Amino acid sequence: MPELPEVEVVRRGVDRWATGRVIAHVEVLHPRAARRSEIDVATALPGHAFACASRRGKYLWLPLDASDCCLVVHLGMSGQLLMQPAEHASERHLRARIAFDDSGPELRFVDQRTFGSVMLDALVPDDADGRIPRQIQHIARDPLDPLFDDERFISCLRSRSSEVKRLLLDQALVSGIGNIYADEALWRARLRGTRPGVEVSRRRAAELLGQVREVMIQALAQGGTSFDSLYVNVNGESGYFSRELHVYGREGQPCHRCGSPVRRVAFMNRSSHFCPVCQRR
Ligand SMILES: [Zn+2]
Repeated sequence: MPELPEVEVVRRGVDRWATGRVIAHVEVLHPRAARRSEIDVATALPGHAFACASRRGKYLWLPLDASDCCLVVHLGMSGQLLMQPAEHASERHLRARIAFDDSGPELRFVDQRTFGSVMLDALVPDDADGRIPRQIQHIARDPLDPLFDDERFISCLRSRSSEVKRLLLDQALVSGIGNIYADEALWRARLRGTRPGVEVSRRRAAELLGQVREVMIQALAQGGTSFDSLYVNVNGESGYFSRELHVYGREGQPCHRCGSPVRRVAFMNRSSHFCPVCQRR
């Protein structure tokens, strides 16, 4: 499932190739892809141009110029946004296509498992002087956001009795972190994810936040993490960060720091990966 670095790679691609272009025609090929906004998307977009693509956490949106609306894109488990020449054959799981009036490449939404969607939403004022889609107002800023409040995050984390990994995945506390980067940041910070937030010192909470940023910035530089060929950038290329992972997906293999076998345990319908020696209970 795409996390912040993967969505940011896609955002940069869409921003580069679609911003400023006038939409000519929208076709929704699968009702679930546009949820309840099928008619809106197909009728509301033509004639508008996309303004700069924005992102918060794992949410991506394309504001429409001269409008208070935007197109919110949820990649879900397997969604892809691809720029393709109009004459390129339809992908097997093509769900929606947006053609522009300049006959350049079109923007395609491809989604094998149909958990993703593209939908219209209103832009409302955020907590600073920007605007944000109404449906993601409750999402906290992400650690790469210049307005992210480090002190607030550290205090909140240290006031909660929940496990620290659960807190990293709480999108109301900090957005954009999923299972992969939570496990990697915890390993880098030598913290066991089961430790309650209240038992994490201020220094270690700050260290953990620093490691979250570090791992995400490194993943971004590698084009993100592709595990199953479903995550690709707008040109259909995979990311290479999976080669740099220290614990995620490495059950039984030696820890890169101490050589102990990496362990995997069940966690919230998924898994947690950690080094039992470096990340003591
Ligand atoms: Zn270790």
